[in-house]
Amino acid sequence: MNDRNVGISDPHSFTPGRKVDQLETFRQKYAAERDKRLTKEGSDQFQAIGFTGKFSEFDTDPYVDGPRQASPMSLDLDVLVVGAGFMGMTAGIELEKIGVSNYKILDVAADFGGTWYWNRYPGVRCDVESYIYLPYLEETGYVPTERYIRGSEIFAYCQSLARQNKLYDHAVFQTRVTDMEWNEDAARWTVRTDNGDEFRARFVATQSGLFTRPHLPGIPGIESFAGHSFHTSRWDFDYTGGDDSGNLNGLRGKKVAIIGTGATGLQVIPQVAEYADELVVYQRTPTQVMPRQNAATDVEWFASLKPGWHSTRRVAFDKCVQDHAVVSDVDDGWVRFAKYQMEAVFAAGGESPTVEQYVDALERSDYEWNEMLRARVDAVVTDESKAAKLKTYYRTMCKRPGFSDEYLPAFNKESVDVVDTATTPIERITETGIVTDGQEREFDLIIFATGFQGGRTWSDKAGYDVVGRNGNRLSKKFANGLRTLHGFLSRDFPNLFLLGFTQTATVSNIAHLIDEQAVHMVYVIDQCRSSGARTIEPTAEAEEAWGKVMSDQTATRTDWLTTCTPGLYNNEGKITDNRNPLVSGVYVPGFEYFELLEKWRADGELDGLVTEH
Ligand code: NAP
Repeated sequence: MNDRNVGISDPHSFTPGRKVDQLETFRQKYAAERDKRLTKEGSDQFQAIGFTGKFSEFDTDPYVDGPRQASPMSLDLDVLVVGAGFMGMTAGIELEKIGVSNYKILDVAADFGGTWYWNRYPGVRCDVESYIYLPYLEETGYVPTERYIRGSEIFAYCQSLARQNKLYDHAVFQTRVTDMEWNEDAARWTVRTDNGDEFRARFVATQSGLFTRPHLPGIPGIESFAGHSFHTSRWDFDYTGGDDSGNLNGLRGKKVAIIGTGATGLQVIPQVAEYADELVVYQRTPTQVMPRQNAATDVEWFASLKPGWHSTRRVAFDKCVQDHAVVSDVDDGWVRFAKYQMEAVFAAGGESPTVEQYVDALERSDYEWNEMLRARVDAVVTDESKAAKLKTYYRTMCKRPGFSDEYLPAFNKESVDVVDTATTPIERITETGIVTDGQEREFDLIIFATGFQGGRTWSDKAGYDVVGRNGNRLSKKFANGLRTLHGFLSRDFPNLFLLGFTQTATVSNIAHLIDEQAVHMVYVIDQCRSSGARTIEPTAEAEEAWGKVMSDQTATRTDWLTTCTPGLYNNEGKITDNRNPLVSGVYVPGFEYFELLEKWRADGELDGLVTEH
């Protein structure tokens, strides 16, 4: 481990936890807290933001002036890539490596960046170490300025990556796909857009991003609010002033409400607290807050890293966090928690614990870890009633853990209050404010930090349907869950690569998953080109077999998902609803999925896929 990183003995770090003996007491407490938050609607509790119609004003791009200027295009392409985030950029870069240059990268946004184009809210930062998060760091030679860089630095990196790789020559921005249809005779996809373009593409790479389409909570009256409101991913800097580093002078003298305390809320709340006259945080479930311990990059250390370091560091991080058995040089909350659990397992059963010892040690150490975090809340937040609301009572990985050194202290301001909506739900939003317990609080501004459409079908999230061979619709095929081989290709939808969380895998560092997917897809395209294949798709048997792998994986997590507090990872507690791919089809640990894909490529047989020449 490099000594530049802040260790467990740092003042921000934890004091030893209380050893947990009363497992059953904790289990009951956690179950009671979960039950308070369970809704019968699951993911359907949320209100979608449409491209047009109801709530579409929440989707307006605040970062661009006016619509696309370019005339409609009619083009024959080798590849159309839908989505210009990390996935689209990596796909473009990898396509160039195999000599494919007749491609376009299309996005609703007006630039590259994806998540980092949209999420520019004050305080936005990478929550995974930037050295393993940013792609192509060894190739670009870029040195991130901090361990956890700001969103604006990530966005600028995306732009520079696009410039360096001439991706702007391939970009079609401010453009949304409206429909996509397979043309059997031409063996091409016809893709139309809201700007009147028609692309006839041999291959399409598409995704329905988990974090690009925002949604609103299921609270009545949102449309009646006469003050100002917006979603965090469409931040209105004209109203608040400032930028992602703060300076929100427009909030001076204002009463502000923030609904939502996920990873976004955690980053936004301290910023708004700094400037608003009054801030009320509406929290349904608190997020675990571990120390952040950001620091400027030690450039000497960075320069000393040996070739190949990026991949090695990424893989070790994934393995440490998900397998608890590999040492990672990254020293952060993800790794510390994994190490804490590893030590507990070792203490219980040495090198060869029994399954019972292993499971028991993980559960016990998780409760201990949360005891430390709850003690941290008490140590930082002086008002006991606020502190009580901010403590978490669920297992650590039920929700994505949070990291902040500013979040908890923000609640020490008298001007900042927190309302626990699990006990006093928001009844409605009125013309002037928010009603809980029959009482209205008035606001000038309501900020929705309420996340993205994770629990809807692939087509709902994408905003268009795909018509494949013989008129088969993807919306119909995926109505009861995804059906693919390895998450990439689906039978009757030849040459269409689905990317993202589509029966793929999960790792804490999602940028790593994205890279692996782009590399895999480009390998398959390259194989088609070199063998002269017109089409490629899975066999029915292969698709079924991968579906079985996915359902077996889900079955191993059913108990865990059921005991978890509701959230994106367990489809808001409704784990029988197959629309959320994080519940119905995700391979864990993700690094094993990467190994599986690598081995499949090394075999060179395109096993499970069928080609037509
Ligand atoms: P999120 O995790 O989905 O959080 C949404 C928040 O809204 C939750 O606190 C949720 O409470 C709350 N909420 C929803 N409906 C509510 C209601 N009716 N009343 C009160 N509260 C309500 O969304 P997010 O924070 O925007 O994060 C989205 C994803 O992006 C996450 O996976 C996150 O990890 C990721 N992210 C990453 C970074 C990064 O730095 N890399 C930064 C930000 C976000 P419940 O928990 O009770 O549902």
